[in-house]
Amino acid sequence: MKTDHFKMLHNIEELTHLFSTSRNLHEFLDGTVNIIRQHLTLTACGIYISNERTNCLSLEACFGLNYEELKKVSFAPGEGIIGEMLNATKPLSIKNGLADPSLAFIVPYLDHKHESFLLLPLRQGNNPIGVMILQRETGLPFKKTDILSLLVTTSQLSNVMTNVKMLMMLETSPIENNNKKAYIKPDSKFLKGKSASIGFAFGHSKSFEKERILSFFYNKKYTKTYSLEDFRTALNSTVKQLEKLQNKVKSKLADMASLIFTAHLLILKDKAFIDEIELLINRGINAPNAILDIGKIYLSMFALNENLIMREKQQDFEDLLTRIIHNLVYNKGPYDKFYKSIIITKELYPSDILKMSAKEVSGIVLLTGGITSHVAILAKSLQIPMVIVNKDDISNIPDDTPILVDADTGNVYINPSADIIKKFEKHKTITQIINDNQEFFEMPNRTLDGIKINLFSNINLVSDVHLAIKINSDGIGVYRTEFPFLIRSNFPTEEEQYFVYCKVVEGMQGKPITFRTLDIGGDKLLSYFDFKEKNPFLGLRSTRFTMEYKEIFEHQIRAILRAGVNSDLRIMFPMISSIEEFISAKEILNSCIKDLGIDGIAHNKDPQIGIMVEVPAIIDIIDDIAKEVDFFSIGTNDLIQFLIAVDRTNEKVAKFYNPLHPSVLRSLKKIVDSAIKNQIDVSICGDMAHEEKYLPFLLGIGLRSLSINPIYFPKIKKAILEIDCKKAEELANNLLLKSRLIDIEELINII
Ligand code: PEP
Ligand code: MG
Repeated sequence: MKTDHFKMLHNIEELTHLFSTSRNLHEFLDGTVNIIRQHLTLTACGIYISNERTNCLSLEACFGLNYEELKKVSFAPGEGIIGEMLNATKPLSIKNGLADPSLAFIVPYLDHKHESFLLLPLRQGNNPIGVMILQRETGLPFKKTDILSLLVTTSQLSNVMTNVKMLMMLETSPIENNNKKAYIKPDSKFLKGKSASIGFAFGHSKSFEKERILSFFYNKKYTKTYSLEDFRTALNSTVKQLEKLQNKVKSKLADMASLIFTAHLLILKDKAFIDEIELLINRGINAPNAILDIGKIYLSMFALNENLIMREKQQDFEDLLTRIIHNLVYNKGPYDKFYKSIIITKELYPSDILKMSAKEVSGIVLLTGGITSHVAILAKSLQIPMVIVNKDDISNIPDDTPILVDADTGNVYINPSADIIKKFEKHKTITQIINDNQEFFEMPNRTLDGIKINLFSNINLVSDVHLAIKINSDGIGVYRTEFPFLIRSNFPTEEEQYFVYCKVVEGMQGKPITFRTLDIGGDKLLSYFDFKEKNPFLGLRSTRFTMEYKEIFEHQIRAILRAGVNSDLRIMFPMISSIEEFISAKEILNSCIKDLGIDGIAHNKDPQIGIMVEVPAIIDIIDDIAKEVDFFSIGTNDLIQFLIAVDRTNEKVAKFYNPLHPSVLRSLKKIVDSAIKNQIDVSICGDMAHEEKYLPFLLGIGLRSLSINPIYFPKIKKAILEIDCKKAEELANNLLLKSRLIDIEELINII
């Protein structure tokens, strides 16, 4: 069963010849699949060709498949795995195809039930032509060499294929297509999305939309008249709900305990506000309108206020008004209906996700278009399974539809069968995995050749500390301190931050902790601060923001220094783009140390001070800045985005966001070399560090410290134990010689 690649390449000419001798197009395509079959020892092969006149892809030639049945099913571009592969740039290999839901449409029509599948986009230059699907015996997976020879063959064939496609389009009229069975739209079965956290959840769907938006109530016509008594009852329920919510959040998220709902409760204590509403109700205005009328006056007062802190109150106030009216009109809080359900939503703010978590929602399906990345990070911290899907596939799903969210793979099952649910119920949660494998986590992180690798944790919330300790991490590599800011509806004070940071320090039991100062802006926007920027990724963000709003910066640094007294404290500044910027930030830090000393407040006098290396401008001056700082932490998420000029949150350009780009690899090497030469610590804390496939390169260039979200510890720790650093170094050196992505990918064997 040896694959004959040489012969196959040789046969390309034969294929072209086949075209001229075939009596019709199908004869040519049949001939093509047969030649590929012989040389790749396939058990099935099918060619789907896209027809722009009918706007669908349909099966035009095959063997090992039931042509008659599959011919009836067509795919629109982007629909199902076939439609998705039409615009893919790389082949997709599926090892357990029979169980993979994306291939469910073909499995009943296979002659042989084998597991290995390969899907290959057929294209001429940038123009998609169709998709080829191939199947092989289980245990005979598609190897890199097979894929390469297929790529060569199909690229040579593309010219002929384009002609085939054009001729087919002339042959068919759009009407003909109407007789075909449409592809069974996945909204009744299965959706392929993008994983945004981990775990799985099964529950009934609830769409999360307009109720929370105050304008909904402005436009609502109230048929019932609500009395003063109704208003007071609603007010009482609101207070009780907020107190309950606060307690729930306290047990789940220590850092938010005293912070998040206090602002709402305080407003309710404002007698003037309540009196004014009651006055209007007594004058005969319906209670919901009275609340909105007075609410509007307060909102504009907040909005126009010179003081930033007062302006921040606006969102709290809106939230509160929504809650009171909800209680008045529906006799329940705005989040009550989400208890144990699967939320389907177009947008989600961090404060929403907290309230969802307090309501114990089971899972979230986020439709693309909303703010995503920090919400995904929060979902991970709160261990809420979340998947991001294309909104057109699911937006009209009725409430209470049974849904299973598999956040490990990004799959969403609508009306899943009992079998699928049963299968998932056997999956272990991350906590179970850790509990069942304590010995494994206690083992030192050493490579095959005995080199110690420091595995630090990335944390966002105090609740992450528990996991970081359980998995025995070496410390906190990055604490994204913006999260307490992001999930609130106003800037936390120094005291509030101090309270949160103390919890982190206590929780880490003396292990090193790296606090990253406020990294907002870009995709991490505060709901209560109007950045008003056309291009926020390149705007007033991170350290640029804190240097502009020095008071906010100083409050944070003082809180960190105070909480970090007697601890192994490291502080780093994000998005540093020049030496001057670092020095100015460090001066502020030093002046905070001095002031705390003068005031006689206990604090850490000598923290290590470092930077995130994530702006490309730093790379050419890396040796110069290495002399100023105590450590580097490489933020590949931003570094890649800026090096390749590709928005890390924009799905449309996701294919360009490739950590294996030669410039990324060479930049990483330069940074690590410089740290080693200047004898300062260097670690990597971007997402690249939690993907096993990049690990040999990272260790190969000399990185010995990684910082990852604790949920990825099991797989990364396992991968470290299997790596030989000598071999990794050889691989890294070879990779660094390559200047083309395709060569790098081939070498790293990820195709
Ligand atoms: C990074 O940019 O790689 C990083 C770790 O920071 P963030 O993802 O929070 O921007
Ligand atoms: Mg970053």
